[in-house]
Amino acid sequence: MKAVAVIPKKEKSVHLVEMNQPKIDEIKDGRGVLVEVLRVGACGTDREINNAEYGVAPEGYEFLVLGHENFGRVVETGENVRDLQKGDFVVATVRRPFGHSIYDTIGQQDFTTDAEYWERGISRLHGFMAEFYVESADFLVKIPAKIAEIAVLLEPLSIIEKGLKQAEDVQKRLDIWQPKTAAVLGTGNVGLLTIMALRMRGYEVHGFGKQTRAGYLNAELCEAIGATYDSTEELSIIDSAKKYGEYDLIFECTGFSPIIFDAMQSLNENGILILSSVTGGERKTDAVPSDKINQQFVLGNRAMVGTVNANREHFEMGVKDLALCEAMYSGWLARMMTHKIEGLENFAEVFDILENSSKYNAIKTYFEVNKI
Ligand code: BGC
Repeated sequence: MKAVAVIPKKEKSVHLVEMNQPKIDEIKDGRGVLVEVLRVGACGTDREINNAEYGVAPEGYEFLVLGHENFGRVVETGENVRDLQKGDFVVATVRRPFGHSIYDTIGQQDFTTDAEYWERGISRLHGFMAEFYVESADFLVKIPAKIAEIAVLLEPLSIIEKGLKQAEDVQKRLDIWQPKTAAVLGTGNVGLLTIMALRMRGYEVHGFGKQTRAGYLNAELCEAIGATYDSTEELSIIDSAKKYGEYDLIFECTGFSPIIFDAMQSLNENGILILSSVTGGERKTDAVPSDKINQQFVLGNRAMVGTVNANREHFEMGVKDLALCEAMYSGWLARMMTHKIEGLENFAEVFDILENSSKYNAIKTYFEVNKI
């Protein structure tokens, strides 16, 4: 079968490889499932791996098959799989509990404290940019056929669901927390999904991007789901809090780390800031009003939490939000899926779009490997 791979740590090494089709007995306990890949999303992480910023090949391989945003159909199941059947749609989670930390042991590998981790398509495990994959049923989430068209958005959404779940858990400290307003920093694919998830929870949501409003599809999508859109070139986050009021919750997903200090100054008393950008660069910032920020956090009981990766429960939360969004704003999610590339052999096109996403006005770029 065909797959799209890189040589980790070798810049721009993305290429097509030919591999044997995996078999269900590679999973030892009869819980193996063979999945035919239908769609695979491509994101900044894939771009960064292809730019040699990170990525680790599985043991015994010099290449790593890319792809973690996945959607597929069950072809065959092992003798101990009763929760899935041939023909079911599934999305696989990304990280596996192969580390030594207590969190791996208790099945919360998304909270691993190990320096090494196992993530399909990212670190030590082949990913889903392939025609087929085999996985234990334990790591597959069943997808209702009604949301098949947009289910490739579930993996990025799962990261957001985990962030929101963590915010909820942290805020349990308050006994009563009735958040009403939220700011979402960044309106790319992750930002838009965050705006959606917050709108599904009834928040008044304010989205912020760099680009000006006119003719910007992402801004139009913010408004179409009942959020506002402002360009930070015209309205800073701090000034926006004067206009809209301080926020109960702020979700950061711009990839531009200096903005977090503005966000810290725009939170309400008892508010929470969630950070989700994996900023691998060396950027530094100065002129941070540290006394002011520190005092606001102390006197206002504010909180900040980082979030990465997601566990099964967060994928399941995401399925519900996708279904609710389809019911409330039918077609909105599909409008995010701007660039479909048919066939894994056209990987160069996918990576060209990832490298130049603003030129292409791309929100979500994905492979269609097989027809739904
Ligand atoms: C993936 C996460 C992963 C993270 C860091 C993200 O793109 O969605 O599952 O944990 O990258 O590798």
